[in-house]
Amino acid sequence: MKIAVIDNNKIITKETDTPALNNRTGAIVQVLGCGLCGSDIVKFVHKISKNGTVLGHEIVAKIVDINSHTNFQQGDVIVTSHHIPCGKCDFCKHGNVSMCEHFKKTNIIPGGFSEYVYLSEEHLENVAHLKPENLTEIEASFYEPLGCCVRAVKRANLLQGDTALVIGLGSIGILMAQAIKAYGINVIGCDLISERVEFLKSLGIDAYQELPQEFKADCVFMTSGADKAIDTALNHVQNGGKILVFSSTPKNSGYANNEIYYKELTVLGSYSPAPVDLKDSLNLLTEGKVKVSGISTVYNLEDIEQAFEDTMSNKIMKAYIRVTR
Ligand SMILES: [Zn+2]
Ligand SMILES: [Zn+2]
Repeated sequence: MKIAVIDNNKIITKETDTPALNNRTGAIVQVLGCGLCGSDIVKFVHKISKNGTVLGHEIVAKIVDINSHTNFQQGDVIVTSHHIPCGKCDFCKHGNVSMCEHFKKTNIIPGGFSEYVYLSEEHLENVAHLKPENLTEIEASFYEPLGCCVRAVKRANLLQGDTALVIGLGSIGILMAQAIKAYGINVIGCDLISERVEFLKSLGIDAYQELPQEFKADCVFMTSGADKAIDTALNHVQNGGKILVFSSTPKNSGYANNEIYYKELTVLGSYSPAPVDLKDSLNLLTEGKVKVSGISTVYNLEDIEQAFEDTMSNKIMKAYIRVTR
């Protein structure tokens, strides 16, 4: 089968053995396609993942072989995510599922940018769902990234009538703003790129290239990976408000101690979703409360390096890698 792997400063495709169940429980799935996540870009650019790693986790796939107690069957088209929290450890008990050791250990093998993938029984039990019939393959691939946003919205724990600001309207910002709205919170977005501002507006959410100076938000969602967005956040967060950090920044710069203190700010992070957030994400997509058409640009697996480049240069908002034609 064909896989895409990290090879020093490149992503290359190559042939490898197709996985088989060999008496294991779980399923072998044929990947139809897989979204390219911002975290894949970070893992590649900052060399967090080593050579030979198959990135990709936002898969839509068809079950081709299965040995499971679940109701899934051969031929089912499913969505799944890659990590599963144990639910019992101290991190899980505090709701910090992304920090759970089991969560970090579990994965889809070898990764989404691969023609076939092995899913464990645990994946089938906890994070896999049938692709809803009213969603296209590409729409369904937003199951995991939207799940991340849903968790962030829940962690922000806002009150009805609150106003949120989303800084950075890449694909995640667009999802985040819609998720916030779906939870009944007022939301506006901002981004320096005018097409992105217009895109959010076309979804019925107000957005700006430059925010009105006096505008204050109860919570700022940081979906921008730019260091200077931090100043924008500090300028526009309400006294007593929250800043939800949802991306890394190149300089790893932060929020000033005294501003947090004098303004009584809460700065919190949110990374990856729990199974319940993923379920809620799928419902939002199925009910049409979060719209994702027009966000993705489709690439074939052989052209994956171009997809990385076009995402990094902001030429496109999000890439969907079609793995099986
Ligand atoms: Zn993702
Ligand atoms: Zn745990």
